Amino acid sequence: MKRRNRRVKEIVAKTYTKEEVDNLIIQALRSQNSTPIHIHNCPEGHQWPCISTYCEDVNTVPRLCVEHGGPIPIVKGLEPWRGTR
Ligand SMILES: [Zn+2]
Ligand SMILES: [Zn+2]
Repeated sequence: MKRRNRRVKEIVAKTYTKEEVDNLIIQALRSQNSTPIHIHNCPEGHQWPCISTYCEDVNTVPRLCVEHGGPIPIVKGLEPWRGTR
């Protein structure tokens, strides 16, 4: 009988940076539906949900979804200007 604890060791060895912890907290908050979700109207003729907090006039201004070539919505906590990349 051979039993290995490799998986346990990998979990223990995993260390989190502050940014990773922040993102985990943000994801947890989102899972509680605390983030307002709004609906965009895609010019291609359908609606799509978005959780970005940087969108304005979602009801009056049509916006292409990502699948139809639209820009990826900026999500709170992952703003490109924060230098997370
Ligand atoms: Zn949006
Ligand atoms: Zn679309």
